[in-house]
Amino acid sequence: MLTQFNNSELLLQGNSCGFEQQFNAEPWLTEANTVNSVYIHVPFCFHKCHYCDFFSIAGAENLYEPFIKRLTKELEFVGRHLDIVKTIYIGGGTPTIFEPKLFEDMLQSVAMYLPRTAQCEWTIEANPETVTAQKAESMVRHGVNRVSIGAQSFHPTLLKALERWHDPTSVGKAVDCVRKVGISDINLDLIYAIPSQTEEQMFSDLNQAISLAPTHFSCYSLIYEPNTPLRVRLEKGEVNQIEHELEASMFEGVKSHLEQEGYLQYEISNFAKPGKECKHNIAYWTNQSWWPFGPSASGHLSGKRWKNTPRIPAYISSGNMPPIVDVEKLDSDKSAGESFMVELRLVRGVDRARVEELISRSNNRWRENVIKRYVHDGLLHWKNDCLALTKTGMRFADTVMLALLMEDEKMTDTKERTST
Ligand code: SF4
Repeated sequence: MLTQFNNSELLLQGNSCGFEQQFNAEPWLTEANTVNSVYIHVPFCFHKCHYCDFFSIAGAENLYEPFIKRLTKELEFVGRHLDIVKTIYIGGGTPTIFEPKLFEDMLQSVAMYLPRTAQCEWTIEANPETVTAQKAESMVRHGVNRVSIGAQSFHPTLLKALERWHDPTSVGKAVDCVRKVGISDINLDLIYAIPSQTEEQMFSDLNQAISLAPTHFSCYSLIYEPNTPLRVRLEKGEVNQIEHELEASMFEGVKSHLEQEGYLQYEISNFAKPGKECKHNIAYWTNQSWWPFGPSASGHLSGKRWKNTPRIPAYISSGNMPPIVDVEKLDSDKSAGESFMVELRLVRGVDRARVEELISRSNNRWRENVIKRYVHDGLLHWKNDCLALTKTGMRFADTVMLALLMEDEKMTDTKERTST
């Protein structure tokens, strides 16, 4: 999950089609030994789904090999500066898109250059169409122990509405492939509130997914992200957003149905069998530091945020480290807002001492009043000495978090993005 803030100190801004700054994160390598987590971005897909605003391009097979070579160089260079990492997450894009030899090369480089604990949680995202027995064997041979599969829906008409190209039967085949090689930690991504979707279809999607017995679910309601084909279709009136009441009912349905099946909600959109929560994402939601690899990957280190260049040619032709863009350093007050924004996503909430510490960082303790107001309104509550969203508060999480992020008069354009 990435969050963009306007009221931070923006040290360096760039974009994908404008100027290219030749700054990189090399000066911060001296602190790289403090990160426990690493994110690696693979920027390729075989097709762009219409709802997706993650950085990836389709039809760039000629760049696969140069990308892997370049990534290897970056892993080797930065890896020397890392201490033992506890979580690795290869996301995208479609990290399983490569043919087996290149896929093997990528995993071998990660395994070779990133020092990690024996218990390191190593996740790879997978498009179900691209998982094969051979790639699954590569995964387990190099240490991948968690696979996140984008199922989204089991209804062809709903996948078509998203312009998501995969055969729903491939999800079960992908699960079988990774389970056969011994990887039992499996996440399935599902999307609900898809145009024309009924609650009956949503429960049918859930039941088909549950029948595959994954250990974890990420269930997101569909977001019409700006500059996506789906958003354009919405604005042209070609698709109809489902009613808010139905979406809210689906949210409750997802939660209660998964909980009945033993998947506990531990974050607004994430559910897991006991002990199977995603450690990497918990690192994001507890505002830890992580190091980014690959084009467009965002990093967080001691209150600094930055993004690697989202231009693949610039990434491939760069030296040991890629150019970076959008460097931000949050001041103490803003970083407290950011902390509330991510940490309140966890169902367990934020413990009292941490809440007090964050409140004390705000000018005149202004966040204390916001918290009191939302406790009074029933959107926040104190539970087990932790401040947490209530059941109703989860539906209005964005409102609560924005109010805690910055004072009303400063609130401008803030955007939250969640991964699928
Ligand atoms: S949703 Fe996933 S598979 Fe589809 S374009 Fe985005 S990153 Fe690629």
